[in-house]
Amino acid sequence: MPEGDSVFRLAVRLRQVDGAVVHQGEIRGGRAAGLRLDGRRVVGHATHGKHLLTRFDDGSTLHTHMRMQGSWTITGAGRRLPASAARGARVRMGLDDGRTVWGLDLPVVEHLRTADEPLVLGHLGPDLLHDGFDVHAAADRLRASTAPTIREALLDQRVVAGLGNLWVNELCFLRGLHPATPVSAADGEPLLALARRMLWHSATTPDAYQTTTGRRGKGQRHWVVGRAGRPCLRCATAVQAADHVDVAGSPPRRAWWCPRCQPLPAC
Ligand SMILES: [Zn+2]
Repeated sequence: MPEGDSVFRLAVRLRQVDGAVVHQGEIRGGRAAGLRLDGRRVVGHATHGKHLLTRFDDGSTLHTHMRMQGSWTITGAGRRLPASAARGARVRMGLDDGRTVWGLDLPVVEHLRTADEPLVLGHLGPDLLHDGFDVHAAADRLRASTAPTIREALLDQRVVAGLGNLWVNELCFLRGLHPATPVSAADGEPLLALARRMLWHSATTPDAYQTTTGRRGKGQRHWVVGRAGRPCLRCATAVQAADHVDVAGSPPRRAWWCPRCQPLPAC
């Protein structure tokens, strides 16, 4: 699942092309479809939550978001993408060193002035993976959220940026919070401090990517996610699940929880 740690790892991988010049390339999706990128030098990659920023030396930025389906890949000199994958290309950047960077099936592709990045990111909360993340300020934003449940508040990128469904479910388990817990009943600081630690560990530790239990076995990498009806890894009670449509028209997101480890507080 592309979450903040996925995009952080992706940016680390894409930085191998920083400094290269686009020899031939174009944007193939979004409002800027057809725009040539030829002659621009890639000067950096940055992230904010699940958003990726590819910056060029002409003061412009390619802003992309993968949502559930997008991906990026780099092909070496003389190598081609399979035709089926190439059909989904929304960004192609053939570099002066022969490599090609491909952005595939990206639902969000925008080209803008680098100075205008705040226009597309300004609505987001603080990034859990940025240096200087202030857990107290983030907890204030969490407390100010009007979301009815802690699950929805943590998924709201305007509160903090970087958590997706996997992390929200696993964090609620580790903090003993039922996903439907009211925001006011959750202790924000330790919850967000744990979120930052776990996301950072997943983003930067080899072999730890999106493994929350520390176990490598099949079906044991997560405490509750994907484990509906199976015994809780801590107390053996059957894990429960429910689907929620948080945004009208969007596919439902599943919540998982252990009813014993994560009791719903009495209101
Ligand atoms: Zn349990």
